[in-house]
Amino acid sequence: MKCVICKSSDIQMRTIEEEIKSGKDIVLISLEVLVCQSCGERYYDRKTMRKIEVVRSRLKKHDLKVEEVGRVLRANVS
Ligand SMILES: [Zn+2]
Repeated sequence: MKCVICKSSDIQMRTIEEEIKSGKDIVLISLEVLVCQSCGERYYDRKTMRKIEVVRSRLKKHDLKVEEVGRVLRANVS
């Protein structure tokens, strides 16, 4: 398998933290995905995509226990 972005073939399984938006919040979930070691592009298989969809719908229904790990802040820069 080659990276479609940078053409590198150095793609490895890594545990990453995926950010899922939930209203104004961001929920982090750990996922095992293939990551290009050269440019950082992530490759999700069907099973992982499905998992993300399940998490999204459970978040919508408030059916998933979440804990606060930080704040999301915004700065206005001109
Ligand atoms: Zn790449």
